[in-house]
Amino acid sequence: MVPQSVNRLGLYVHVPFCAQKCSYCDFPSWGGQMSLRQPYVDKVAEEIAARAAGEPRQTADTVYLGGGTPSLLKPSQLTQLLETLRAGYSIAPDAEITCEANPGMVTESFLAAAAAGGVNRLSLGAQASQTGMLRLLGRQHTWRQVEETVDLVASRGITNINVDLMFGLPGQTEDQWADTLRLALQLPVTHLSCYGLIPEEGTALQARLASGALSLPEVEAERRMYDLARAMLAEQGFVQYEISNFAKPGFHCRHNEGCWTRVPYLGFGCAAHSLVGRGERRQNPMSLEGYLRGEAAQTQALTREEQMFETMMLGLRMTRGVTLKAFEDTYGIPLGEVYGSRLAPSLTKGLAVLEDGYLRLTDRGMDLMNAVLLDLME
Ligand code: SF4
Repeated sequence: MVPQSVNRLGLYVHVPFCAQKCSYCDFPSWGGQMSLRQPYVDKVAEEIAARAAGEPRQTADTVYLGGGTPSLLKPSQLTQLLETLRAGYSIAPDAEITCEANPGMVTESFLAAAAAGGVNRLSLGAQASQTGMLRLLGRQHTWRQVEETVDLVASRGITNINVDLMFGLPGQTEDQWADTLRLALQLPVTHLSCYGLIPEEGTALQARLASGALSLPEVEAERRMYDLARAMLAEQGFVQYEISNFAKPGFHCRHNEGCWTRVPYLGFGCAAHSLVGRGERRQNPMSLEGYLRGEAAQTQALTREEQMFETMMLGLRMTRGVTLKAFEDTYGIPLGEVYGSRLAPSLTKGLAVLEDGYLRLTDRGMDLMNAVLLDLME
């Protein structure tokens, strides 16, 4: 794991364009707005240049292009974003530079621009191997295209590849989930993310669930799917390092790990978040139109207590937990002195343990994380 350090910095660029809105998605992304790609990229480039000019030059060790579907950008637009980032910030020679993509939407010319711009990690939304399940989710691809895209990306020299999968889907059986895991494990990938479906208000899928047209698997079945993923991935050498994330040794996502350890990051584009220093959160306008109009970002200064709680809330997502020394180094007070009495119930119930310099959740604690956090808030 990369050590926690105040000198680290992540850069994030949000690309909100999608071919079509997936039925479960409540991310800030929009289908059918492709004509806005160039004005948007120009605006993001303007934002990057303006923010970089206003502060001493900084070095970033991770860059993440997320969305939306960044692979829908034209190669020249991807190049423009990466070059603008490099003009404003020093990018460490060994920086992790990730680009999200969707299967069947990655062209040779896009990959050439990505590789030329230093992209060395690709994250692919695959979700499920059954065509019927993909259609239910509003996905635009087949599993065959997942395989083809992974092969294409790897053949062009980007071999650090993540694939996102989803479980707990309406009508999904445990056998179907096992098939998806089996097929994903045959891919030459270094990282797998397995997300349990959370039906979000306002999505098409949630409306169908609310109407009774669809139903979710039982809670116990969903739990077994999660446990199956843990077991199958461990058997194939993937180490779980966060609630939903599994990686071959050395291939954890450094950018996301930075977010969970409160490494400062700067986000550009609509809806992008930043953690400025350690004490200010900043959010860009949520809507594409608002961002293009130049609406101001919202900022929030965090109190020391809020910063400490974020350290706990985010750090406990990781299987290694919160580093006691890093906590004390950052806040000048031992973690036990701040949270000792509020942690006691979780330690007594076996939901959390203190060992080897870390406070971490047990498997059962991961399942009941909200209860642990509620205790910490009191
Ligand atoms: S491709 Fe991703 S961001 Fe776009 S609609 Fe689907 S889930 Fe949302």
